[in-house]
Amino acid sequence: MVTTAQMKKLASAHGTPLFILDHAELRKNFKQFKKYLPRVQPYYAVKANPAAEIVETLYKVGSSFDVASFPEFQIVHENIKDLSAKQRQDFIWDKIIYANPIKATKTLEQLDQYKPLVTYDNLDEIRKIKKYAPHAGLALRLKVPNTGAMVELSSKFGANPGEAVDLILAATKAGLGVEGLSFHVGSQTTNFQNFVQAIQLASSIFKESESRGVKLKLLDIGGGFPAPYDSGVKPFKELAATLNSELHRLFPKSIEILAEPGRYMVATAATLVASIIGKAVRDGKLCYYIDDGVYHTFSGIIFDHCKYHIHAFKKGPSQICAVFGPTCDALDTISLSEELPENLGLGDLVYSPNIGAYSQASSTYFNGFPPATIVHINR
Ligand SMILES: *Cc1c(COP(=O)(O)O)cnc(C)c1O
Repeated sequence: MVTTAQMKKLASAHGTPLFILDHAELRKNFKQFKKYLPRVQPYYAVKANPAAEIVETLYKVGSSFDVASFPEFQIVHENIKDLSAKQRQDFIWDKIIYANPIKATKTLEQLDQYKPLVTYDNLDEIRKIKKYAPHAGLALRLKVPNTGAMVELSSKFGANPGEAVDLILAATKAGLGVEGLSFHVGSQTTNFQNFVQAIQLASSIFKESESRGVKLKLLDIGGGFPAPYDSGVKPFKELAATLNSELHRLFPKSIEILAEPGRYMVATAATLVASIIGKAVRDGKLCYYIDDGVYHTFSGIIFDHCKYHIHAFKKGPSQICAVFGPTCDALDTISLSEELPENLGLGDLVYSPNIGAYSQASSTYFNGFPPATIVHINR
């Protein structure tokens, strides 16, 4: 992890707001994933943070990728362009899954030449794929319980389990190849039972599908692996042990297992350093204004339902403060209760760790304030 001395040094060299991305941490997270889930190939979900440098680092250590738009596909494809055409073709399912169940026809046309692996969850999508990307391989996205996840994803996508086998048969009948199943248990899932239930559901669909003539080969257990934002999140090792035993019990070795961790890979890899730009007391509460906010790196407060903590480098008597971003919108509120020293002044630095996922990725230029500068360390 980046040290406070490094943060200060980088902030004085690059200015603030500064988004420091530590590639050593990325590699560590990847290695830990592989160590505890040796049977599962991670497909990093690029939407969590699409920086090309991240994709490159993870590619080098052996990661595959989950993309959900054609531009994301291209970011990943850049890394495999040195391979021969044949290698690229043999390789593409091993390296990329296009995991957005709804795809514009134009996107399908763009993807078709790569013979991609794509997800789907309904009959209309089968017709679209048949017409615009007939060379694609398919994985059916299932709707599974998202109970207790920080970000719920089951209301927008996923075939009902009762329709799953019919959708597999319909795609097969249309002449498309259905390779397997995928699901997402909800982002930042701390309720590990979601994974257990989803795996069990998938197993019963594998069996029914086989009994009706289509043998599936691949199970994609999606994302949702929690980042250690606070001490309440149980260690990854525990989740992995649960997953390993269920996968071992229900899926023979010949079934390929993949996962799409996003947050898990990048959340802990970035730290945001910002400066105090204003200070006021309102209704008796000390308010700090900093040069980054919810329209920028802290966008996860809105989109990701995530809470971030602000720490000061300076020591001193502290109190509960409010922390606001730089724009003129009252929505630009980072926190109404952060314990911070009372003696912070203009230009003093603060930092927020574990801010790598769903943060920079959805930063805007609202109110004329550009996104934070990104600096990569330990590449
Ligand atoms: C967002 C998303 C992911 C990544 O989820 P995390 O909770 O960040 O691991 C994986 N797969 C799909 C289909 C997604 O939409």
